[in-house]
Amino acid sequence: MPATPAWPPKSLPRLFVRAQLNEGVLIDLDSGQANYLGNVMRLGEGAELLTFDGATGEWLARIVAAGKKRMTLSIERRTREPEEVPDVWLAFAPVKRTQTDWLVEKATELGVAKLLPVKTQRTIAERVKLERLESITIEAAEQCGRTRLPTIEEPIPLAQLLRQSERTIYFADESGGERAASAFKPGPATLLTGPEGGFTDEERSAIRALPYAVPVSLGPRILRAETAALAALAAYMAVAGDWR
Ligand code: SAM
Repeated sequence: MPATPAWPPKSLPRLFVRAQLNEGVLIDLDSGQANYLGNVMRLGEGAELLTFDGATGEWLARIVAAGKKRMTLSIERRTREPEEVPDVWLAFAPVKRTQTDWLVEKATELGVAKLLPVKTQRTIAERVKLERLESITIEAAEQCGRTRLPTIEEPIPLAQLLRQSERTIYFADESGGERAASAFKPGPATLLTGPEGGFTDEERSAIRALPYAVPVSLGPRILRAETAALAALAAYMAVAGDWR
């Protein structure tokens, strides 16, 4: 006897909307979203989809009006409560644009709570465009089933990050540190990874001098900056996050 398929089926398209969702609310989509649902997903009046607003969870919605560039959804009922992700921030030195986009997409999928671009002495990246990075988190959240978006902060200097003493800073240091498996502990955590050129000795000693900084090794090989950021996040989730 085939198993009764879960309802709503996981295959329903998911859409992030910038409006407070609630039962019975009507949502007018912007032309980009209307085009996506109507012409890409080929959905019309009566079709169902999942929506989320980043705050109140996930909701089943039905298309009640559809035109060339406009579409109206009726919000029917909540299908999932807002997600609770571990309180883990990823403080990364931005790299080249494509790699930074990739890092942001994957970190969203991995469940990061906050993304914090950090300016270090050897950071050579172009200007970080928050709007573009936010649209990347939205697409990744729609695809991986998240109901909240990670927050993305304006880039800050390393010195400013190091003054945030209320959180443990797990410092990915290729020159050596504690093994990830024993280093990571549940609780407010900031994972810090460096730029392509690495941290300077001055930066490394300033970080290591902090009582709330824990140097962590991500294995015997020198990882690219974006790989190190995601390896640290995945290891944290496995050891101290919501993969346990
Ligand atoms: N400075 C290094 C060099 O050129 O020899 C490489 C820097 S590495 C490309 C970029 C960042 O990734 C480092 O600053 C560090 O934060 C992190 N990283 C890379 N491999 C690592 C490892 N095996 N253990 C811990 N962190 C690592």
